[in-house]
Amino acid sequence: MDFKNKKVLVIGCAKSGEAAAKLLLARGADITITDSACIAHKQALQDMGIAVFDGGHPDFLLDGEWDFIVKNPGIPYHNPFIKKFVEKHTKILTEVEIAYACAPRFHYGAITGTNGKTTITSILYELLQENGRALAAGNIGCPLSEQALIFGEEEKDIALELSNFQLLGIDTFRPEVSVVCNLAPDHLDYMDSVEAYYKSKMRIFKNQHKDDWFLRNVDDPLVMKYAKDIPSTVIDFSLIRQDVDLYRKDGGIYLHEQLLFHQNDLKIVGDHNVANAMVAACMAYKLGVSIPSIQKRIKAFQAVEHRLEYIGERNGVTFYNDSKATNTGAVVTALQSFEKNIILLAGGHDKGIPFDELKEFDDRIKCCIAFGETRHKFQPIFSHVNICETMKEAFDRAVGLAAPGDVVVLSPACSSYDQFKNYEERGRIFKAYVLEYLQQN
Ligand code: ADP
Repeated sequence: MDFKNKKVLVIGCAKSGEAAAKLLLARGADITITDSACIAHKQALQDMGIAVFDGGHPDFLLDGEWDFIVKNPGIPYHNPFIKKFVEKHTKILTEVEIAYACAPRFHYGAITGTNGKTTITSILYELLQENGRALAAGNIGCPLSEQALIFGEEEKDIALELSNFQLLGIDTFRPEVSVVCNLAPDHLDYMDSVEAYYKSKMRIFKNQHKDDWFLRNVDDPLVMKYAKDIPSTVIDFSLIRQDVDLYRKDGGIYLHEQLLFHQNDLKIVGDHNVANAMVAACMAYKLGVSIPSIQKRIKAFQAVEHRLEYIGERNGVTFYNDSKATNTGAVVTALQSFEKNIILLAGGHDKGIPFDELKEFDDRIKCCIAFGETRHKFQPIFSHVNICETMKEAFDRAVGLAAPGDVVVLSPACSSYDQFKNYEERGRIFKAYVLEYLQQN
């Protein structure tokens, strides 16, 4: 796609919006940025030749003759300013689409789903490094546009984590291999309906060709329901069944009849991580990593921070940080990973998702210590619930209750925005409480 002299409005100047603006500018486009908040480095952007309107979206921008808009994925389509462009049928793209058009020699392993995206992306990135041209991008941290600005002329293998928000704004993006790892309710505060959320994930394979692969989780009934009309070659995977393409047999993970790796080689805990590693290994294989290299690198992979991350142990009580568990499905995974005596710290910003699914784990829960905005919502879920205001109070109560053999896990089922900047901050603060406690005599 030729961006020369194209008139582009970038809405939302967070990391990805700015990266897209700079990439488009380098390709000769005429860029205007608008942001509802104040942009700290406005002057620097203006000095580059970008028109900047911050602290709100001026109405006259609605009358501009834009070739297209780059919308920050965090801004919902029902935002009043965005809605006006939707009504005018202005093309609205995500920065991933821009980067895709600017980096023709990138090869993509694209990952979406409700839980496990970052873990799969991290493992895939680790495996792809074997070929010496790997990058990780997307939701995992670095916008794809930033990578495309630096490496756009080179051949690279990209482990790309995509949210459904990003997928809503793709147009031609075509990954060589893709996956929807699983589906569970999430983001009901942003999407019109849970069906819309599930369907948006399926956009990941819409431009694929027959020689591309789509990895389909046959163990997930929602994936099976929504993954339809797939144009690519479907690689069915399962942890339970063996009559599929990618499967587990006696602890070995096989693609067709070839052993990719053995689950005992993994350092990450839980069956869900076997599934994550299985998907990443298959994607790496499709992108040209040899099986011996996959086996070597998968052994080296350690847990990702804030995802069932082991912190330490004192007097027979173990502590885990699962701050990234921001929906019910992720907490189910955490509760499945420990058999009993769980002291669960949960609660946070209310996204409107139900917690009922957690009821079936009541017998594993010694006590749920609920905090934050949603704290009262856990009362009908578990037999033993303790209500607190803050995570610090919750932690202190957990320590007071814990006995040898207990597992204290922060797995909140909620996002963190009621009391923290983000889940990383919540997780780091929790780890600091634990580490301080572990150091006491
Ligand atoms: P995402 O990027 O999709 O949010 P992460 O890898 O960051 O996924 O993990 C988020 C949460 O989901 C963590 O609590 C983690 O333990 C849990 N999780 C990871 N993989 C899976 C999986 N395959 N199925 C269910 N839950 C998972």
